[in-house]
Amino acid sequence: MATPAQRREALKAVWLEAKDCTRCPLAETRTTVVFGNGDANADLMFVGEAPGANEDREGLPFVGQAGKLLDKLLAEIGLDRGQVFVANVLKCRPPGNRDPQPGEIESCEPYLFRQVELIEPLVVCTLGNFATKLLRGDSTGITRLHGQAEVRTLGSRAVRLFPLFHPAAALYTPRTLETLRADFHRIPELLAQPAPDQPAAAPELEVPEIEPEALAATGEGETEPRGEPEPAAQLDLF
Ligand code: URA
Repeated sequence: MATPAQRREALKAVWLEAKDCTRCPLAETRTTVVFGNGDANADLMFVGEAPGANEDREGLPFVGQAGKLLDKLLAEIGLDRGQVFVANVLKCRPPGNRDPQPGEIESCEPYLFRQVELIEPLVVCTLGNFATKLLRGDSTGITRLHGQAEVRTLGSRAVRLFPLFHPAAALYTPRTLETLRADFHRIPELLAQPAPDQPAAAPELEVPEIEPEALAATGEGETEPRGEPEPAAQLDLF
């Protein structure tokens, strides 16, 4: 069982790997890799689609209008962003906010599965079609699946998967918003359920050795600020 500090360090090591990622052509057009943020020890995780223009600029997920709605819905169930972890299927913005392409999803998915394995959430809410299809491994759409929790194994981790409409889809469609809100209000009861049984051979969390240079890059353990600006916001909430 990992301690909160070990989990945070392990997640930080994955972020250090992801922040300069060149696994797909989105590396050429993005401004920032939007790794995700929140509590590395969260019981509740959200997975959206991909960063938009605001997220690409700020380096943080869900900071635009859809993010404000997410914050509002979280507040309605007594939570804030510091108590959950928010990530996306793609860590880089597709140009012009076009749909993620299969090759991009495939290149990026190891980061998401690693995040789930390290954070060990009880409940993972997929926001919209892309996250739902990727994490369920089939093409059934969100209109059919929203609000139906099921236990699924993501990588090596069994979680309660709870598909929700994407907040962006609810921004201008009142009926979708009502449905999203009703589904959202069921999250506390899902969090209160016993943790799902884990697959028999679930490996213990391995805390990777972090190279001294990598640690130096985070400013960890230092009192003086370094020359290079810190992407502090991405790390602050881990
Ligand atoms: N929409 C998403 O799916 N993710 C974000 O981070 C922002 C908007």
